[in-house]
Amino acid sequence: MPASPDTFDFIIVGAGSAGCVLANRLTASGRHRVLLLEAGPANRHPWLHIPLGYGRLFTNPRYNWCYQTEPQPECHGRNVIAPRGKTLGGSSSINGLIYIRGQAEDFDHWRQLGNAGWSHEDVLPYFRKAEDNERGADEHHGSGGPLGVSDVRDRHPLAAAFIEAAQQCGYPRNDDFNGAAQEGAGFYQTTMRKGVRSSTAAGYLKPARRRGNFTIVSNALATRILFDGRRATGIEYLVGDQKRSANANVEVLVASGAFNSPQLLQLSGLGPADLLQSLGIPVIADLPGVGDHLNDHYFARIILRCREPITLNDAARNWLLGAKAVADYALFRRGYFAIPAISAGCFIKALPSSATPDIQCSIALYSIHNLGDWVDAFSGFTITSTLLRPESRGHVRIKSADPRQAPAIHPNYLATSKDRDTLLAGVKALRRIAKAPALAQHVVEEVDPGPQCDGDDALIDFIRRRGSTVYHPVSTCRMGQDTKAVVDERLKVRGFERLRVIDASIMPAVVSGNTNAATIMIAEKGADMVLEDARG
Ligand SMILES: Cc1cc2nc3c(=O)[nH]c(=O)nc-3n(C[C@H](O)[C@H](O)[C@H](O)COP(=O)(O)OP(=O)(O)OC[C@H]3O[C@@H](n4cnc5c(N)ncnc54)[C@H](O)[C@@H]3O)c2cc1C
Repeated sequence: MPASPDTFDFIIVGAGSAGCVLANRLTASGRHRVLLLEAGPANRHPWLHIPLGYGRLFTNPRYNWCYQTEPQPECHGRNVIAPRGKTLGGSSSINGLIYIRGQAEDFDHWRQLGNAGWSHEDVLPYFRKAEDNERGADEHHGSGGPLGVSDVRDRHPLAAAFIEAAQQCGYPRNDDFNGAAQEGAGFYQTTMRKGVRSSTAAGYLKPARRRGNFTIVSNALATRILFDGRRATGIEYLVGDQKRSANANVEVLVASGAFNSPQLLQLSGLGPADLLQSLGIPVIADLPGVGDHLNDHYFARIILRCREPITLNDAARNWLLGAKAVADYALFRRGYFAIPAISAGCFIKALPSSATPDIQCSIALYSIHNLGDWVDAFSGFTITSTLLRPESRGHVRIKSADPRQAPAIHPNYLATSKDRDTLLAGVKALRRIAKAPALAQHVVEEVDPGPQCDGDDALIDFIRRRGSTVYHPVSTCRMGQDTKAVVDERLKVRGFERLRVIDASIMPAVVSGNTNAATIMIAEKGADMVLEDARG
């Protein structure tokens, strides 16, 4: 008997960084019928493909969930913005395009927590499999993969000055942050191919779309995982107000990201029993770890006034410079429209006790007063200091049984004194770089926080008042061997059959870098495990 049109082998929930990888790999053989559900619309808008679109999509609710955190107790009670992609490609369609995997030690730590198969040696082949690095393949890098990786196209004088200033402060030069060692200063590599964003929708989904065994439904909000006892059997979802469902013969794969994957599990009855009961949701399993352990990167940024009109602020406000930027991109795919959110950086050990870099310093070629604002009216640029391995942990918890309502997001930034001390040391190091001759020659003054902000107490207050996330939430469906871990090392939800979570939420802790590459690696490895198990 032919399968019903609503029956598939695999259902993937979320077409983000991870979901598009899974969709490509699971449909490749033609043997499995796959349904991919995505809450957001298709990715046709040009800003989703032009790198500078990053700035334009920051607050656009059509392609961005535009979440906010709960008031953060250690950040003057502020609600911190928490953007997430909501379209094919997910956050890889709106992110800052920086390609940094993390440190080898991060993955070795995952392995030491008991997660067999996740050491750096184990995961490196998956990073290489994903990658199409324009520098070509070597022991650290791959070429020919779906994910375009390229050097920053234009080496802006301010970014070059930042690197030289870091060297003047004693940090080594590093031309490959994903190579033998991460420490040092250099230009970033980006997820771009020939000046166009390489989201997972572009790299993985596009080549798979026409496969006969593949169905994509966009504008489809998954509302509940369906179960027969402890076996996942399908998904219920909404398209507009229309309720639909689909069956999965083999597995349901949740790939909705670090905020929405725990939300979907909780809506489906998997989560802290007291929370679910308080919202009238029947409890299938009391899993207090679902949504717990939220771990995110927090950063502080310093705004500097530039001596020359060479910043992105100038191009955005001067029609002649703006017209040149448009022409540069239209004709050559270069110039300001082809820059990533940050262009160059320096990984440092801010605390003398750290064995590997604990702070990522970066330079962005523009300044904005509040994230999401239009650029400042003066020639300005920004230097940043990001805490790489925050100890602080928070949570994601649904506030309502209505799947259309945002969950409560509480990252608990700066909750430990070590986090505050490390970031303070990072901001001081950043100021030293700004004052080194190579960069100082371009700087008129520090605008924010300004020279009057001096001394540890004032600087810590600045970090609390003006700091924010770099959008790397993870760990809310954490992989591990302890009782609060949500998935095991094969990414199967503990105590359940035919149900996995495969996305950034499974990271045991945030990587010391940027999270897109590691999420794609997780999905590449996850797809292999799913296919191995399907073969029996
Ligand atoms: C503004 C921003 C800048 C960033 N900059 C960088 C950077 O420069 N470099 C870097 O490495 N990382 C960066 N990141 C982080 C990186 O992009 C993410 O860590 C990564 O994309 C997470 O992948 P994911 O698959 O876990 O989730 P996502 O890519 O967010 O995908 C989840 C998908 O699931 C969909 N979804 C959610 N709920 C449902 C539901 N109920 N039903 C159906 N679909 C659903 C969402 O719409 C989304 O498409 C940035 C992120 C943001 C938001």
